[in-house]
Amino acid sequence: MKRRDFLKAAGLTAASVAAAPLRAQAAEDKPAVRSYRPIGRTGLKMSDISFGAGKLLASSMVLRAIDSGINYFDTAPDYGQSEKTIGEAMARISRDKIIITSKFCTPMPYPGHLPLGTRKKDYIASVDGSLSRMKTDHLDFIFVHAIGEMDKSLEAEKKRLLDEEMLAAVADLKKAGKVRFLGTSSHGPNNMEELLLTAVRSGHFDVIQPAFNFMKFPKLPGVLKEAHKQGVGVIAMKTLAGAMEMNMEAGEKDFSHAAFTWVLKHPEISGLIITMKTAADMELYLRASGAKFTSADQDVLKRYARLYGREYCRTGCGACEGACAAGVQIASVMRYRMYFRDYAMEKRAMESYALLKKNASACADCTSPACQGSCPYGLPVKDMLADAHDSMTFMV
Ligand code: SF4
Ligand code: SF4
Repeated sequence: MKRRDFLKAAGLTAASVAAAPLRAQAAEDKPAVRSYRPIGRTGLKMSDISFGAGKLLASSMVLRAIDSGINYFDTAPDYGQSEKTIGEAMARISRDKIIITSKFCTPMPYPGHLPLGTRKKDYIASVDGSLSRMKTDHLDFIFVHAIGEMDKSLEAEKKRLLDEEMLAAVADLKKAGKVRFLGTSSHGPNNMEELLLTAVRSGHFDVIQPAFNFMKFPKLPGVLKEAHKQGVGVIAMKTLAGAMEMNMEAGEKDFSHAAFTWVLKHPEISGLIITMKTAADMELYLRASGAKFTSADQDVLKRYARLYGREYCRTGCGACEGACAAGVQIASVMRYRMYFRDYAMEKRAMESYALLKKNASACADCTSPACQGSCPYGLPVKDMLADAHDSMTFMV
């Protein structure tokens, strides 16, 4: 394909030739982005494999990502040094060639999602903080973050999602040129699909970001179809289903390829974000860009499901929520356990666990069988909760 034709196919203009996405084309020998997809009705196109900046510590990773063709970066005020690190790279970036998403949050500790009751000025201050840390004058997307996490009640989270103060702030921020589009993300554990559908149908949101992978999510395809119909982009996260491939033996390194191409075979998906901690992560993950999902990939996923199906807590599921009479936040404990054990995010997991209103401190000595049979996927819930408390409790 001629370069000009490639640019056209990628939806880029000649002026964006400098867009780092395409510089990578020249480097045949190193993995690079090979596909850009539209983000709903926004007119933007994102790299199919994009940069989750949750563990970002070095600005060189941002520059390396851009050089490899990645043009979409997902960050948040409560992702440690992430925004500040992007800011350190900003002077060496053509800002209009990349897409940046941040969230309505306070800085660390995670989770810092702004709660219902936040005033318009505080939503605006959250964005101003992000802009200042990243040394930029605008965000492409601002997200209402982790909808379904702060309250079990569907109605309460719908109010946070469609909060008048937030929408008024977004209107002002758009007018001031500080924000281009509104989005929302969800990894449950409560009402993920219903809340995302509400966002899609409200007309206020240009993109949704669900947890989505090959392990489950029976109701999500309906949400994806509706989003597609309404011109709302869909960005997938939690695509590695627990990322337990870190624990798989040598020779299983194509797991991420299989998991990513499974996600990307869905035409409604605009792209996926994945945490890239090292250059080796980036090179490995980019091998899936533009690739087809094959029967060999299917075999790898089957093997993963056989190995880990009874260990992986399906992010976004929440079927066990409410099983405990004492009110333990089972699904949230499970998610932080996953961050601790499988994502190598021990510090953040422990800090977040410490903030839970009802953690798993009582589980080791509990004699109630209530939670044990509550998981439709057969996870040994009680043992995992006791292990989670053991692992993530600060010792004094
Ligand atoms: S423990 Fe089981 S029921 Fe509970 S959220 Fe995880 S997968 Fe769903
Ligand atoms: S082990 Fe007991 S305290 Fe812990 S979640 Fe299960 S029922 Fe609740």
